Amino acid sequence: MLPYASMEEAASALGRNLTMAETLWYKYSADKSDYFLYCHNILFLFVIFSVVPLPMVFIELMRSNNFDQYKIQPKVRMSLSDMFRCYKDVMGMFFFIVGPLQLVSYPSIKMIGIRAGLPLPSGWEIFLQLLVYFLVEDYTNYWIHRFLHNKWGYEKIHRVHHEYSAPIAFAAPYAHWAEILILGIPSFLGPAIVPGHIITFWLWIALRQIEAIETHSGYDFPWMPTKYIPFYGGAEYHDYHHYVGGQSQSNFASVFTYCDYVYGTDKGYRYQKKFLSKMKEESRSGEQNGGFYQDLKSE
Ligand SMILES: [Zn+2]
Ligand SMILES: [Zn+2]
Repeated sequence: MLPYASMEEAASALGRNLTMAETLWYKYSADKSDYFLYCHNILFLFVIFSVVPLPMVFIELMRSNNFDQYKIQPKVRMSLSDMFRCYKDVMGMFFFIVGPLQLVSYPSIKMIGIRAGLPLPSGWEIFLQLLVYFLVEDYTNYWIHRFLHNKWGYEKIHRVHHEYSAPIAFAAPYAHWAEILILGIPSFLGPAIVPGHIITFWLWIALRQIEAIETHSGYDFPWMPTKYIPFYGGAEYHDYHHYVGGQSQSNFASVFTYCDYVYGTDKGYRYQKKFLSKMKEESRSGEQNGGFYQDLKSE
């Protein structure tokens, strides 16, 4: 809820005219409570999770050579009902865990100082805050994920996320309810350290979810814009973690590659990558692309 009776009052409080974005924000948010604005996140989560994976569903069902050449584990194919089952399970998790968690976590959002008023943050401010959120999330998630790969953590909790040894887009948030709760911490930590505007917070939750969907898509497209982000892991990187499964001591990071590099947990992946590129070079005589892993299952 904005504390101004009119746009003129808002402009005089700011000491300047409202920008176009601020005018739009004023019109949209002036009569809405901050709590209601915060709850938009739930709608965004449902919409993004339902819409963003759809192209991957079509690609998986089409089985066209144009796309299949980029499938990371070509021997594993999913039917529509397989994918729908995953979607349904995750939707249930959203409805019973993530949604209620969002509804009750509003006081913490207020406490850390997420604001919904004017002025709006600049593009640079949004960009830098998002960068901090991604770095903080990546680092914290790395250690929690690594911890979940101990015997107890894996068997009791993390095993569920690894049910997909060849992940699909819908399987990005497919996990035990306890894992969903635990991994909420890294997502909140960045905004708690560098609190910003509610729009930045919406963007953060949306981009983090889209990133996880791409990472679990099962396809490594060379034209993805994320290929230009330095140290970005991407689909092939995280796919290897799922492929190796429970014993995996490789590729724990959720977004970037540097944590695994620094802490020495990408050795298996790098060995595999080097080995396969050598094999590919040797057998580049028109043979069919056997995918990233072929028949190897060693780290
Ligand atoms: Zn794992
Ligand atoms: Zn995963």
